[in-house]
Amino acid sequence: MYAFDYQRPGTTGEALAAFSGDANFLAGGQSLVQAMKLRMANVPLLIDLGGIPELRAISVTADAVAIGAMTRHAEVAHSAEVQAAIPALAGLAGGIADPMVRNMGTLGGSLANADPAACYPAAALGLGATIRTDRRSIPADDFFVGLYQTLLEPGELIVSVSFPRVERAGYVKFKHPASRFAVVGAFVSKGRGGIRVAINGAKACVFRATEIERALAKDFTPQAAASVELGSEDMFSDMFAGAEYRAALVSVMASRAVEQALPQDRP
Ligand SMILES: Cc1cc2nc3c(=O)[nH]c(=O)nc-3n(C[C@H](O)[C@H](O)[C@H](O)COP(=O)(O)OP(=O)(O)OC[C@H]3O[C@@H](n4cnc5c(N)ncnc54)[C@H](O)[C@@H]3O)c2cc1C
Repeated sequence: MYAFDYQRPGTTGEALAAFSGDANFLAGGQSLVQAMKLRMANVPLLIDLGGIPELRAISVTADAVAIGAMTRHAEVAHSAEVQAAIPALAGLAGGIADPMVRNMGTLGGSLANADPAACYPAAALGLGATIRTDRRSIPADDFFVGLYQTLLEPGELIVSVSFPRVERAGYVKFKHPASRFAVVGAFVSKGRGGIRVAINGAKACVFRATEIERALAKDFTPQAAASVELGSEDMFSDMFAGAEYRAALVSVMASRAVEQALPQDRP
């Protein structure tokens, strides 16, 4: 690990004022500290967000669930309010990694990191969330721009994320057996903004499967999602799953997410 300075501000304003040059914000350290340990990241100044209570809150209104950037995955998973308002979001948080990662990892860190296999980016895109930073509000549709790349500028701090409440939502992933990252995952929602299907794990960046959205707009059933065949161009291929297998998994995961989203007592 390269040597670094460390600051632990008590407010968002202090964190922003402390930022300079190649400094970096530290959330739960679940990705950043590992990168530093491996000397893949050389961060001269770490600004620890862990002492800022205003970044760690959940508030639910009739229209949306707003979650502070420093809210841990375990807090979202165990929140009775989130479970009641958007059960698929609480379920997604509870399915991330293991208890240690869930107790340290944060919503803001997950979105800023933009790991293609991470779960929260799928929820943000699949629900049409808005990412609020210290200087602007960014629709999830614009936020993710490439492999580990977002629209965030250096020193821009995610403050909170607003997830619209929807009529139905489901998230299912084919998980890597060791890390539980998504080999392929699908977040499906049906709400005032229409049908949204966000896919993670399959390509360099989370994306909307518009072909499946169109099929579900006509017929919101697992069969409609499963009937769509996606091409394997641009799909990841690695030792866990080839591109064609991943393309097939997209339809299967979307179909299972629809199944989860539908009322369980339907005929
Ligand atoms: C073993 C393991 C298994 C995992 N499995 C899964 C999984 O199944 N599903 C899943 O979704 N994720 C998984 N993760 C990822 C994990 O859940 C974390 O969300 C992710 O590692 C980010 O960690 P963090 O929140 O601690 O952020 P950090 O590592 O502290 O930060 C990550 C990056 O985000 C930046 N950042 C942090 N907070 C902010 C902010 N508020 N504003 C701007 N930039 C910010 C940091 O500067 C840094 O660049 C796994 C991680 C590990 C280690």
